[in-house]
Amino acid sequence: MRYDYERVWKGDLMRRVLITGGSRGIGKAIADKFAANGYQVTAPNRVELNLEDSASIKEFINNYKDVYFDVIINNAGCNDINMIDEIKDDEIDRMMTVNLITPIKLIRGFVGKMKENKYGRIVNIGSIWAVVSKEGRTIYSATKNGIHGVTNTLSVELAVYNILVNTVCPGFTLTEMTKKNNSPDAIIEIVKNIPIGRMAEPKEIAEAVFFLGHETNTYITGQKLVVDGGFAEK
Ligand code: NAP
Repeated sequence: MRYDYERVWKGDLMRRVLITGGSRGIGKAIADKFAANGYQVTAPNRVELNLEDSASIKEFINNYKDVYFDVIINNAGCNDINMIDEIKDDEIDRMMTVNLITPIKLIRGFVGKMKENKYGRIVNIGSIWAVVSKEGRTIYSATKNGIHGVTNTLSVELAVYNILVNTVCPGFTLTEMTKKNNSPDAIIEIVKNIPIGRMAEPKEIAEAVFFLGHETNTYITGQKLVVDGGFAEK
């Protein structure tokens, strides 16, 4: 059955968003923003969908095979920081899988219904480390540049189905990931290099994701939207 837009607009039918990593940080803020705007939010936890485990991903896609997600937000990510000669194989595998391979599998798994319904919005979460560089981010940057490559290709491939695909690249954002990777002193130093003079709150990233993932975005696709308080411009 085709999606009934008249009923969506009238509020009889809910749009549905799939978001990974919705338990905390940026993902939680994105989930809250969509929920506050009337979307039905599917935000599986690690038990329902372990993004490192191909069997779990297969099972999740199969369990939801009849569900039409109008919006997919590939948010979950991990970031181990190490110099090139210190990087361990399991870090490479985990970051490649969670940040790049699993998003591709989720899009592949759920894009069919978007195509049938001639509507879809996909937002992949990148990073400023897909825009500028810093030591120790070899694998993380590779995955975040990689996910933007996915955005680029799919924006071309899927535009004919009215499926718009974009990347939001957050700058330093106050989440557990940032606190894990930077000491309080390091955070003070980092902030000196952010023109706006502070790190982002997760909800400020969520605003950009919502803008690109919402139906009022009818023409922006294939873009990398950097939300970093001017950090990358300095
Ligand atoms: P975070 O606070 O560390 O949260 C990560 C989220 O991903 C959690 O919900 C976590 O679930 C989930 N996750 C990680 N590995 C998973 C796995 N194997 N299976 C299922 N869930 C998994 O991260 P964040 O700072 O909000 O970052 C969100 C996104 O923004 C990431 O893609 C990150 O690379 C990107 N980003 C963040 C910053 C920043 O400054 N924070 C900057 C640039 C880009 P659990 O709760 O179960 O652990």
